[in-house]
Amino acid sequence: MSQHYQAILLFGAPGAGKGTQGKILGEIPGFYHLSCGEVFRTMDMSSKIGKIFQEYSSRGELVPDNVTIEMWHQNMQARTVLSDFKPNVDLLVLDGIPRNVHQAKLLTKHLDVLEIIHLVCPNKEEMIKRLRRRALKENRIDDAKEDVIRRRWAVYEEETYPVLKYYPKNIIREVDATGSPAGVLQHILEAVVPIQEAHFNNPITGEKVRSAAKASAKGRKKSR
Ligand code: AMP
Repeated sequence: MSQHYQAILLFGAPGAGKGTQGKILGEIPGFYHLSCGEVFRTMDMSSKIGKIFQEYSSRGELVPDNVTIEMWHQNMQARTVLSDFKPNVDLLVLDGIPRNVHQAKLLTKHLDVLEIIHLVCPNKEEMIKRLRRRALKENRIDDAKEDVIRRRWAVYEEETYPVLKYYPKNIIREVDATGSPAGVLQHILEAVVPIQEAHFNNPITGEKVRSAAKASAKGRKKSR
């Protein structure tokens, strides 16, 4: 039987910082980060899926939806079986998926999307520069060439951006992606901590979380 994972999505254009922020969040107990692109990149490149990934990503295009969702789901199940990801304890933080409306529809079978953090980048050219710097550092074939980066942006604008319309407006939070990583993180935490606390127990003690806001309100009452 398929399990529904409680998830938040990190959403935004290539270079907006989804991976950076996702990695940091994933270090916090109670959050589990999974980057779809990272899963693809760590696959055996001589395997059938590895070859398909290389073919599409080297052009800046999306891997076909059926291959992507199947690969993602198998990966999630493997992580769950290994107890690396614990669906009853961890809020899943997804980045890089869904990348189009069809994927969003396919994922309704597996996900409850509780919130979407939209990392907004007002300056496209600045983001493209960021991607090129990262490609040099991380040896990424998809962002090493200017035309591939521009294709990735075009795919984002045509196919991925419309995903925002698929979800209810009231679960979307916009965060300016251009601040310092710590500043951006601060805004993301303001949005996601209440979600995590409302849906999960404290991952360390196993107890129901008394939210910091409620606790301090009670403290103020007592001291009067
Ligand atoms: P990313 O690291 O998220 O920018 O992904 C790098 C590349 O992996 C993309 O350009 C796609 O070729 C592929 N990819 C990652 N996630 C997906 C997805 N959800 N659907 C299709 N292709 C993806």
